[in-house]
Amino acid sequence: MQPPLIGITCSRYIGGAWSQYSPGHYLDYTFNQYSRAVASDGGVPVLIPVAQTPATVAELTARLDGVLFSGGPDIHPRRYGQQPSRGLGDIDDDLDEMELQLARAAIESDVPVLGICRGIQLLNVSLGGTLIQDIASETEAPINHTQKAAKTVNSHTVEIVRDSLLARIVKQRRIWVNSRHHQAVGTPAGGLTVAARAPDGIIEAVELPAGRFFLAVQWHPEGTWDRDRFSKALFRAFVAAAADQIP
Ligand code: MN
Repeated sequence: MQPPLIGITCSRYIGGAWSQYSPGHYLDYTFNQYSRAVASDGGVPVLIPVAQTPATVAELTARLDGVLFSGGPDIHPRRYGQQPSRGLGDIDDDLDEMELQLARAAIESDVPVLGICRGIQLLNVSLGGTLIQDIASETEAPINHTQKAAKTVNSHTVEIVRDSLLARIVKQRRIWVNSRHHQAVGTPAGGLTVAARAPDGIIEAVELPAGRFFLAVQWHPEGTWDRDRFSKALFRAFVAAAADQIP
């Protein structure tokens, strides 16, 4: 059996050592923990830059065995019918366009998808859901979802919905997760089910039960993939699904 090709979406960045030589030129980037986690379970990680067309998105969808929607900036609220709130962070409209096209194509073709942080928000918006633009300023008495500690440290619990895909993967009703997000899923899209919530009610995982493998989490399992068995189990299940081994 060939190892599955797992696409990992990149964000864009201007700065660092290159900005003085190429002002206005973006770097495509993502944290290497995504690739390391995918590779550790036998997947072949392939980074997906922002520059795509409908034709290249169609090729990616046809050739990739799984797509991981990674963390990144905020999604432009026009994508879910809202005006910007005061707490909205940085946005990248070209990134939104590419990832929304890729998400719709992957879901249409039933390619296994894993969403992480921005990824859960992107997948929800791609199916017609909305977001909370800024948890701290738009919800009452939330727990802290923007931990100062590194992503290697878990900071709050999530309650996992019984009989969900996530429950089958981690085999627990409650796990500790890290938390580095100021946005969250608002209204879940039709067809999506909530698979986990934080103690303050914030949605931390959603699934598309009709899909072959569709799981999206608000935390960062790539930050703890090598030290936390639940994070490891999540990547293992995703790569196995991409290799046609349905959990
Ligand atoms: Mn959180």
